[in-house]
Amino acid sequence: MSETASSPIRALIAPVTPLAQNCTIVWCVKTMKAAIIDPGGEVPRLLGALAAHGLTLEKIWITHGHLDHAGGTADLKAITGVPIEGPHRDDAFWIDQMEESGAKWGMPEAKCFTPDRWLEDGDTVTLGETSFEVYHCPGHTPGHVVFFHREARFAQVGDVLFQGSIGRTDFPRGNFQQLIDSITGKLWPLGDDVAFVSGHGPMSRFGIERRTNGYVADDVLAGD
Ligand SMILES: [Zn+2]
Ligand SMILES: [Zn+2]
Repeated sequence: MSETASSPIRALIAPVTPLAQNCTIVWCVKTMKAAIIDPGGEVPRLLGALAAHGLTLEKIWITHGHLDHAGGTADLKAITGVPIEGPHRDDAFWIDQMEESGAKWGMPEAKCFTPDRWLEDGDTVTLGETSFEVYHCPGHTPGHVVFFHREARFAQVGDVLFQGSIGRTDFPRGNFQQLIDSITGKLWPLGDDVAFVSGHGPMSRFGIERRTNGYVADDVLAGD
């Protein structure tokens, strides 16, 4: 993301859970109000990071209903009382099986929850005095959403796209072609200069992936 003094937001990546999921704390610089995107677990550590940066939590944003992204949501909500926004309603079936998956994958603290607001393509979510755009990007899960800050040229894309890779599509209701369409139809138009945080691994930019990504680079999709 833009680290210039004029950027209205800042972001801090805090990997959580045994899957090293990139939980992201974003905040409005002017008001110091923060959103935690994808609190998969380790809630006390996330609260500590908020305090260390002098931030007040205002929102919990969820990209999709997978355990490593959303397992700590219910605990964070119980402690802070702030609204949960996202994912899209089509991920309800994943959220509903959170406790079973948690028991199976060694994250027994994971709990089900009901978002205060399900998100749709084209929605806006506010944070302090700034706002993010919401894009519905199905394929990895049917209800996956992406958060984009236009002025800061910053996106949190969850498990849609990674540096050099794309999200898995072999889960129930995953769909490879739908994922490719989400990436090329929803993410690429935002601009090559957009820096993104993925659910796992390092940050990258859309333009770099359009040149080098073995799944979705322009020449790969063109069949060259
Ligand atoms: Zn996932
Ligand atoms: Zn993930």
